[in-house]
Amino acid sequence: MGKGRLFVLSAPSGAGKSTLIERIRSVFPEMLYSISCTTRAPRAGEREGVHYYFLDRSRFTQLVHDDGLLEWKEVHGNLYGTPVEPVVAALAQGRHMILDLDVEGAKEVFRKIPSSVGIFIKAPDMAELERRLRARGSDSEESISTRLVNAQKELQAEPLFAYTVVNHDLDDAVEELSSIITQESE
Ligand code: ADP
Ligand code: 5GP
Repeated sequence: MGKGRLFVLSAPSGAGKSTLIERIRSVFPEMLYSISCTTRAPRAGEREGVHYYFLDRSRFTQLVHDDGLLEWKEVHGNLYGTPVEPVVAALAQGRHMILDLDVEGAKEVFRKIPSSVGIFIKAPDMAELERRLRARGSDSEESISTRLVNAQKELQAEPLFAYTVVNHDLDDAVEELSSIITQESE
């Protein structure tokens, strides 16, 4: 049995990480995906147990107390956390898994599971990041402003990641990400 790896993807919000992860999951159908818990409200089209487990604050806090999360952070004013059990199961079975985390969560996973592969996704520049956040049409003006301020800070964490992929042309970025995953899966 091969060794399972965790691929930890982080990006400033709006860089295109969710879009890339969706594409990558169709390129690698065997790849597992860590479904996070969040206290954020679902966006249009998001489904319980598919995109996230949507919890209220008290259920989230209970999960923290029960040691049910590998890591958890407050991001843009909401709580997000990685259920620990599926990660442990994936590694035990030698399966690969993608984790979509903010940079603070990524740092904690790098500490706890040093064999994790960190991949930082960037938009070509801040103007394009802002354009994409608006084009997505899912966040309020206030939330877009918070995300842009946070982006400046998140970009400073890039050196902690083994790889950076600039999501300029989507197909090129998918190809680059696929070749990193293939290389690290050997
Ligand atoms: P994230 O998950 O990083 O917050 P999304 O995947 O939701 O970002 O992407 C933000 C917006 O940018 C979406 O509307 C998406 O369709 C668009 N987008 C993603 N990648 C690209 C790209 N390479 N070029 C142009 N627009 C993109
Ligand atoms: P969004 O609200 O756009 O879905 O996600 C906001 C941010 O939370 C993104 O940077 C995403 O990577 C991060 N995030 C999603 N799930 C988790 C998680 O389980 N843990 C941590 N630390 N961050 C997460």
